[in-house]
Amino acid sequence: MDRSKFFKSMIGGAGLAAGLAAKAKSYAAPPKQAQLNLCSQEGRLPGNGLREKVANLVAWGGKGIEFGGNPGGRIKEIQEILADTPIRVSALCWGSCNGDLVSMDMKKRRSGIDQLKSALETAGALKANGVIFVPCFHGQSDLKPAELDKVLAEVLPEVGAHAVECGTHVLLEPLQAAETFYLNRLEQAVALCEAAKSPGIAIMGDFFHMNRQERDERKAFVTAGDRLLHVHTASRKTRTIPGSDKDNYVDGFRGLKKIGYQQFVSLECGVKRGFDPMKQIPECFRMMERQWEAATI
Ligand code: MG
Repeated sequence: MDRSKFFKSMIGGAGLAAGLAAKAKSYAAPPKQAQLNLCSQEGRLPGNGLREKVANLVAWGGKGIEFGGNPGGRIKEIQEILADTPIRVSALCWGSCNGDLVSMDMKKRRSGIDQLKSALETAGALKANGVIFVPCFHGQSDLKPAELDKVLAEVLPEVGAHAVECGTHVLLEPLQAAETFYLNRLEQAVALCEAAKSPGIAIMGDFFHMNRQERDERKAFVTAGDRLLHVHTASRKTRTIPGSDKDNYVDGFRGLKKIGYQQFVSLECGVKRGFDPMKQIPECFRMMERQWEAATI
C-alpha cells in the first residue's frame, strides 16, 4: 500500500501528539509517599570502569544507574558488579533507531521494531524499568505529526505487548523543539499511551526539555501520573550537572510528590568546563535532596 492510501485508510486525523491534550488525573492525596531515588547515566559517572563508577555512586548515595543503547552483551558483567550493592538498573537510554520504527519503508520499520524488542529483552534481564524511545528526531521522518500518531498507534501495541512479556516498559521521551518537531510535551506522550492501550507503554520526563516545553512542570508530572516511570535531569541552561546554573527543581518535585513517584531521577548531562564531577556529582545529589525536602505539597 502506498503512503497516501495508508493514511486515507485510517480513521480520525486530529493528531494525538499534535493536539489532543490528555486529561489530567486529580490527585487529592498521593497514592504513596514519593521517593527520590538518585541515579546517573553510566557515561556521566567518573571512574575507571563500571566497578569504580558504581563504587562512587554508592558512596554518594545513588540508587540507580542507566545504560546507553542495548547493553545485551554486558548483562553478566552488569549483574555481577551490581550484586550486593544498593544500585538497580533504572533504564536503557536507547533513542530513535534513526526513526526506523516510524518509517514508511516497512523493512526498516520491522527492523526498528525488532531492535527495540531486543533492547526490551535486555531491560527485562537487567530488571530495568524501561527502554527510552524517541519516535524521531528532526530529519528522521517527513511524516506530519497526525500521520506519526497513526503509525505509532500501529507500532506501540506490538512493542508494548513485548515489554509486558519482558517485565519492563517502553518509555516515550518528549524532547525540546530544537531536537524534534513531534513529541515535545508530557501530555502528548500520555495521549499516545492512551491510544496504544498497552500497560507496556509508559513515559518519562526530562527536566532539561521540560524547562523549554512545559508551561508548568508540576502540572505536567501530575498529568503523566502513574505512567511516569523515569526522569532525566540536567542543569537548566547549559545541560551540565544540576547546580551548574543555579538550578531549581522544587516545583517539578512537587508534581512528583503529588503522584507518589517511586522511580529514578537520573543525570543526563555534560560537565561545565573547569568542574570536577568527582566533587560536583555528590554536591548535586545533596542539592537535589534539599530541594526535594523543600518541595512541600
Ligand atoms: Mg533525556
